[in-house]
Amino acid sequence: MINTERMTEHVMDLIRIDSPSRREKEVALRLEKEMKDLGAECFYDDAGDKVNGNVGNLIVRLKGNKSDAPPFFLSAHMDTVGPGEGIKPRVENGIIKSDGTTILGSDDKSGVAVIVEVLRTLKEQNMPHGDIEIAFTICEEVGLLGAKHIDISKFRSSYGIVLDSSTPSRLVLRCPSAVKMEFTVHGLEAHAGVCPENGLSAIKIASEAIAGMKLGRIDDITTANIGIIHGGRATNIIPNLVKAVGEARSHSEESLKAQVDHMRQCFHDAVSGYEVTIHDDLSLEGTVRVATLEEKIDRSYDRMDVPPGSVPARLVETAVANLGHKIEHHTSGGGCDANYFNKMGVECVNLGTGMYDLHTVNEYLVLEEFYRCSEIVLEAVKLNALNIK
Ligand SMILES: [Zn+2]
Repeated sequence: MINTERMTEHVMDLIRIDSPSRREKEVALRLEKEMKDLGAECFYDDAGDKVNGNVGNLIVRLKGNKSDAPPFFLSAHMDTVGPGEGIKPRVENGIIKSDGTTILGSDDKSGVAVIVEVLRTLKEQNMPHGDIEIAFTICEEVGLLGAKHIDISKFRSSYGIVLDSSTPSRLVLRCPSAVKMEFTVHGLEAHAGVCPENGLSAIKIASEAIAGMKLGRIDDITTANIGIIHGGRATNIIPNLVKAVGEARSHSEESLKAQVDHMRQCFHDAVSGYEVTIHDDLSLEGTVRVATLEEKIDRSYDRMDVPPGSVPARLVETAVANLGHKIEHHTSGGGCDANYFNKMGVECVNLGTGMYDLHTVNEYLVLEEFYRCSEIVLEAVKLNALNIK
């Protein structure tokens, strides 16, 4: 039903347009033109201003040709991770990959291309459909910022599909909540050779905190990581400052809180053990100096947990069955724009587009799955127009 050749060319074209987070304008303008050519209305919200980007979320409405059909929401993100500039995609044995020096950017240009192909097919074949409302978002890769700041009042849909996961054989219904943590340890600077006893090493303190910390896969539904550490200035200076940045994610609020509390406790315990008395004046007692801790704990996003019996889940499942394929429900370890859309009242499932090894230079897109994803979305839109759920 869909035009696979056109889809392949289109996704390659989109991949060739650089669109790192906060610089999605060029790809947005291209999509805006394509959508207008199909007769859709387009506008940008002010999310770009809020995140210091060069463009907002591109919001598109294609008017339906069947007035009693409920509106349907579709979304994919326009930004990509690095290294993602000057990508040279090539087709090889049924997959698209980069030349190995950059990511491919099928995350999430493949989702974007699926949506465009679905709209083109609907138009060309004059298929019955209700209003289709689309969010081509910015800044998904830097904390779902486009979705976080989207003007949801612009949408009338109460459900839809986000195209931003791995395989169309799996339907993501659950994504975790996430918390970002920034710990700054303040020690005390001193000459490492002349008077090391006057120093408090922030590196040593932070090391103790992290060494005692449960990290990685905590349980079936919880993960944690310290991903960045900065500190120290020279080998002959006892370092007085270390910053460690990490995160925890869980499908359970209780487990998430327990993990965050644990990580904080590790830093508190490590810091509280360190003090030194400095005799730098005439008083006999000297001055007691202690290590201190600064914490910044921020909620990144809230979990999503879409019931298997929900309208979008059933639409996708029926579509998959009609096309003679299989799909299973999946719980993801990552967040996606759908976390926000669900929270804002647009119930969304996340369907895979055939992309693998994401966020690495080995990223690739399996064309058969990419095409299949489009057929599924097209079928779901048709079912929705017929009010079959
Ligand atoms: Zn993505």
